Amino acid sequence: MLVTVYGGAGVIGGNKILLEADGTTLFFDFGINYDLWSQYFEEYLKPRSSRGLLDLFEIGLLPPLKGIYRDDLWPSGEDVWSRIPQYMPIREIHPDAVLLSHAHLDHSGHISFLNPTIPIMCSTATAFIAKAIQDSARADFEKEVCYLVPREEKEGLITAQEWRRSPKVQRQFEFVDGVELPPEGEKFWQDSTDGRKIKATYPKEGLRVNSLPIRSFPVDHSIYGASAFAVETSQGWVVYTGDLRLHGKRGNLSRKFVEEVSKLKPALLICEGSNVDSEVVFEEQMVLERALKAAKQGEGQLIIADFGPRNIERLLTFREVARGCHRRLGILAKDAFLLEAMHLVIEEVPHPLKDDTLVVYREVKRGENWEKDLYARYQAKGKTIGPQEVRQHPEDYILCLSFWDINELIDVRPARGGMYVYSSSEAFSEEQRFDVKRLRKWLEHFGLMSLGVPDPQTGKAAEEEQGFHASGHIAGSQLFELIETIDPQIVVPIHTEKPHLFSEHLRNRRRVIEPEVGVAIEI
Ligand SMILES: [Zn+2]
Repeated sequence: MLVTVYGGAGVIGGNKILLEADGTTLFFDFGINYDLWSQYFEEYLKPRSSRGLLDLFEIGLLPPLKGIYRDDLWPSGEDVWSRIPQYMPIREIHPDAVLLSHAHLDHSGHISFLNPTIPIMCSTATAFIAKAIQDSARADFEKEVCYLVPREEKEGLITAQEWRRSPKVQRQFEFVDGVELPPEGEKFWQDSTDGRKIKATYPKEGLRVNSLPIRSFPVDHSIYGASAFAVETSQGWVVYTGDLRLHGKRGNLSRKFVEEVSKLKPALLICEGSNVDSEVVFEEQMVLERALKAAKQGEGQLIIADFGPRNIERLLTFREVARGCHRRLGILAKDAFLLEAMHLVIEEVPHPLKDDTLVVYREVKRGENWEKDLYARYQAKGKTIGPQEVRQHPEDYILCLSFWDINELIDVRPARGGMYVYSSSEAFSEEQRFDVKRLRKWLEHFGLMSLGVPDPQTGKAAEEEQGFHASGHIAGSQLFELIETIDPQIVVPIHTEKPHLFSEHLRNRRRVIEPEVGVAIEI
């Protein structure tokens, strides 16, 4: 059995882990390595879709594996394979599946470049979230996770084929949790939100990859639908955690996973360690209590909540906060679109049109087709608000806006000031610290009081303003407890900048293999 980590070794995110056993070949995740990506690119300097895979190979963002990529992104007259860094041997493989743990782009994004015949196996919720995100985002060839737009080369440039003649191609998904799709779910899956039709595939049920039986386990993470996987090989069970935590509202799911998987006596545990060096654990429940207390102090004023995009668990936390202080929660169209999709397959996620607390905030911009359609449906039911309503009755709302939407305040012009609750992760990078600096400038400009906003120097919120955010990842001691309980023979730490801490902690107790990019581990 061979395990080769092509992404996620010594870095947080970009997981691309190849497992080869008993004649079966599969990937655990195929995400974007944002750490490497952002060393070369930024919002206005991106890989050029006109040159297909060339830019990505040049920077080393994709594994040197023949046989896995789609065939419409190869610029003619270029030996793209010669751009692979010298130290990485080129191999040819034919993967039987990608086991996708969740819909965060650092796990899913570069599926965009894979041959669409490779099945993507994941939970129904992960598939629906991935589709909703793609449907409601601007076209981006690095985010074609669920379906792709066929390209062709014209006058030396790779471009999308003419939209009337060439439909989007949906990838073949296999749902690992046996959820039966309701008719509206089927409709959503096969729907296209723009003029280009979609050649939809009907999802299958996924219980094995080629010859290997697999099991999936729902786990708690900062996105719904997250799964861990176990694959049975002739050398024993291989377990992959994906991203997980114990301290969210659904922490019991992660505990159940640990309990179940320990019964398998795994040979190998491929384990995330984003927070391996941290002991601070703010629980989602604490975020609710802190935010509610703060919101009550902001009586009569506008409250703005800023949290990570797609963090629906946090959105639902603020829905509780809004209820607790008799306000309504204003969400953006893209959040409502995502909630609607998730509601189809996750019972506890409310349909925003039928929920008393949720309203859609109409942004001041020309919307895409799906947005216009959504606004019309919500307007007909009196479920939209605009900047005027918020200006006239700021005390009635909590508005979910992030830094990227902050210019809406120019139209809202909040009278009587207000409160801005930053409910997101620390500012880790230099770039994020610049953004925080800009954010503070906006808040100052509109006289908004800030809570939990990181300091541009340290990247952290002031001591007394912490606890408005709960991390998506399991922390230090809980992580080692999890490993002890699962009791695998070998541990491969991934999705961490500090794999050596695994070696130090587990020394004398079990074998830890710190992976190197592209170097096969033989078991
Ligand atoms: Zn994640």
